[in-house]
Amino acid sequence: MTALFAKKALLPQGFEDNIRLDIDATGHITGIETATKPGPGERIADVLVPGMSNVHSHAFQRAIAGLTEYTSGGSDTFWTWRSLMYELANKVSPDDLAAIAGQLYMEFMKSGYTSVAEFHYTHGMAGNNAPLNMEMSLAIFEAAKQTGIGFTHLPVLYEVSGFGATDPVLQQRTFLHTPEAFVDLVEMLETRVKSEPEISLGIGFHSLRAVTSQSLAEISTWAGHAMPDRPIHIHIAEQELEVRDCLEFYGARPVEWLLNNAPVNENWCLIHATHMIAKEIKGAASSGAVVGLSPSTEANLGDGFFELPAWLEAKGALGVGSDSNVCTSPIEELRLLEYGSRLRERRRLISTSPEHRGTGAFLWSAAARGGARALGRKAGTIAVGNKADVLGLDSTHPALCSADSDNILNTLVFGPSQGAIRDVYVGGLRVIEDGRHACEEQISARYRKTVKTLIKS
Ligand SMILES: [Zn+2]
Repeated sequence: MTALFAKKALLPQGFEDNIRLDIDATGHITGIETATKPGPGERIADVLVPGMSNVHSHAFQRAIAGLTEYTSGGSDTFWTWRSLMYELANKVSPDDLAAIAGQLYMEFMKSGYTSVAEFHYTHGMAGNNAPLNMEMSLAIFEAAKQTGIGFTHLPVLYEVSGFGATDPVLQQRTFLHTPEAFVDLVEMLETRVKSEPEISLGIGFHSLRAVTSQSLAEISTWAGHAMPDRPIHIHIAEQELEVRDCLEFYGARPVEWLLNNAPVNENWCLIHATHMIAKEIKGAASSGAVVGLSPSTEANLGDGFFELPAWLEAKGALGVGSDSNVCTSPIEELRLLEYGSRLRERRRLISTSPEHRGTGAFLWSAAARGGARALGRKAGTIAVGNKADVLGLDSTHPALCSADSDNILNTLVFGPSQGAIRDVYVGGLRVIEDGRHACEEQISARYRKTVKTLIKS
């Protein structure tokens, strides 16, 4: 049992002063005292707020972040970017992946993410089109354990190349499983994560274009029995071409079709869900599913704007993720989400509620709660029974020093707050101390060596 004292902390009912969190050996909060004093030798934090769960990452893509910003001379789209990304996916070895993910997860935590859902479909290595081994997954586990981030692993079913079960292109071969082989992989991974307190398992379907309707139904049913209440994630309605192809093949839009053909509920996370019309927004919000938004990647790839005002009106749940990892900060994701809507709507303060009249407070709290749900992780609020996944903010930072309790999260999200996150705790363990990770030099040196070789080759 350990304790953490804070001068101020954001509890579910709002900020309270002079707080002590009691934390057990599994990293869960077992008690919260308010209006108390620090005990002798107790760690003292300044301002504690819930950490953020990153709902969507493809770790390997961190290695090309910023390196796809030159034109090929024609029309550059999501699909031309995808070809470059596939080149990388086919070169990365398990050792490379551990090095890249280690750097990335350290960056996540320094920026305010305390956990991540890794949407993992690069199961095999180049030349291996029968990826029945767990090597790539175990490499990511190594990075999660080395850095100390809370981790939800989502092995992803990827079967075909497009609607109508079109044959995979050569570069997709290392992603592929039959449904039977996929179940074998998940069962093997399940035995590996049992002894890991900060690693849990869900599953992913790559997209409606990469999974047949039959397999989606079979695997959803299997997961409902074999791993109930675990997260199920799917990329959906990210691109307009995907919507057109889905309409042509299924006679329905992607989100519309999914809601009619899969047991979508609060365990599901709909990644992107960019292109939805009113009835899909209403249906998806009332299903309880979380939408997993990555405004930085959606902007980078020219996907389109998420229908934020209508989603909030429908009381839909949301989380944020880093996806292609061009951005590793939840603050930037939330800011871009709100600003995209402001630019589109030509008005201010889109994301508020009667309980949270501040946009930063609303967005941070909603994304922390929704994100934790999407990871199947008891977190997202500082409350008894939840993991002690918390951020220690520096109240003397120039962005925060004039903020009263109502404005702490508003200034964190919308002010020039770089450096305001001083300490990061995952399951009560301090993984970032005064802005640094204990293994920072070693992790970064390994990353530099890896990407220099990878990008040249
Ligand atoms: Zn993605």
